[in-house]
Amino acid sequence: MVMDKKQVQLEPVVVGPLETNCYIFVEGSSCAVFDFGMWPKPIIKRLKELSASPGHLVITHGHADHIGGLKEMREHFPAAKVVCPRGDVELLASPEMNLSGMFLMSVTAPPPDQVVNPGEVLKLGTTEWQVLDTAGHTPGGVSYYCRQLGAVVTGDSLFAGGIGRTDFPGSDHELLIRNIRDRLLSLPDQTVVLPGHGPATTVGQEKRSNQFLF
Ligand SMILES: [Zn+2]
Repeated sequence: MVMDKKQVQLEPVVVGPLETNCYIFVEGSSCAVFDFGMWPKPIIKRLKELSASPGHLVITHGHADHIGGLKEMREHFPAAKVVCPRGDVELLASPEMNLSGMFLMSVTAPPPDQVVNPGEVLKLGTTEWQVLDTAGHTPGGVSYYCRQLGAVVTGDSLFAGGIGRTDFPGSDHELLIRNIRDRLLSLPDQTVVLPGHGPATTVGQEKRSNQFLF
């Protein structure tokens, strides 16, 4: 799905062995990327096609299949600022916590340039993205909600018909459910949910039919 609202583009690129959804945001000369998968070449290729150079590389949560591509992204776009939720900063440096150790790999990412906390607002171009606490899948995972676009990037907290796994180190099932209910299901029903894996959905659709939440 490509969202195109008044010159703003929000486009998914699926990358890596776990088919991670990464999202390219473009508004005029402003560009950002949400999550980078493990193998970010398709993102880099798409950015070149768009002649876009990201000013921000934004992390939803610190798992390897979302941050593994960060080093390569930084090599291509050295001016980009890496934005990470505070509660997941330690995952960037820890293969055990970011799960790459489970696959006998050792993924680490450089420390972020900017740390965000739930309740804060991230400005990308002229758009504002509220940082929502959706911890539970990881200790400090967040979602980014843009009221102007009517969209929320949820990482691995909420999926179409599913929720993030909570059998990992630092996961908390009850916390995840509570945060999804309080932070995501409270958004307007028509809000488009852009998850870290699988198809897009809406808040209303998940309220009606997501069996993991009720
Ligand atoms: Zn994850």
